[in-house]
Amino acid sequence: MRKPIIAGNWKMNKTVAEARTLAEGLKNGLKDIENVDIVVCPPFTSLREVAKALENSSIALGAQNVYWEDSGAYTGEISPPMLKSLGSQYVIIGHSERRAYFGETNETVNKKIKAALTHNLTPIVCVGEVLEQRENGKTFDVVKDHVSGALEGIPEADAKKIILAYEPVWAIGTGKTATPEQAQEVHAFIRGLINELYSKEAASVVRIQYGGSVKPDNAAALMAKDDIDGALVGGASLKVDSFVKIIQETGK
Ligand code: PEP
Repeated sequence: MRKPIIAGNWKMNKTVAEARTLAEGLKNGLKDIENVDIVVCPPFTSLREVAKALENSSIALGAQNVYWEDSGAYTGEISPPMLKSLGSQYVIIGHSERRAYFGETNETVNKKIKAALTHNLTPIVCVGEVLEQRENGKTFDVVKDHVSGALEGIPEADAKKIILAYEPVWAIGTGKTATPEQAQEVHAFIRGLINELYSKEAASVVRIQYGGSVKPDNAAALMAKDDIDGALVGGASLKVDSFVKIIQETGK
């Protein structure tokens, strides 16, 4: 039985003071949840403050990006040991916004995953097609390319620790959610890929989140699907009420 995991991607939102207020609200609102793993991913600038606000809670901390070297002349980048030193346990890798605006490729995603795993950071790896690819019947090709590219050279024991997030790009921030059936179809396909790449056992333990306009009113139907093991939430993770409700719906 896979434990559901809900992660909030705050993207480039919240000043340090705003981030602290949101984290305190979540700590308060999510006290009694035990059957869902919860992660929040603030901007780098707020990681320390949010880590402090979340002390003595079961909410884990994640970052939104990482570089693959430990240190050196890489102006503007942040390394896995730096994230660890701030209390991060997770890191989002290969988000579609990073692929679209910041030149992330399967190759850089793969390097980042390996670096994160080396430092015991759990990668949340985003994969998914854009609208044109879906309309041209390319969804499975794109998802296969993203998943196999991300996992290139990663041994089974490490692959089992990775969280995959299926995020159809046309559903991100648009209010258009994939139907639970559309999402389930791709999640089952991804689980099949893990089986082909590794083993049935690996396929049965890897958690696959859905992401794309998840809200309190659509969360339960998505989470009810066999191969959907949680959600990566953008917009609705920026408010205490909506994020808490999504987690409550998931834990029911
Ligand atoms: C995301 O950015 O990963 C995301 C799913 O955003 P939203 O929930 O706003 O669609």
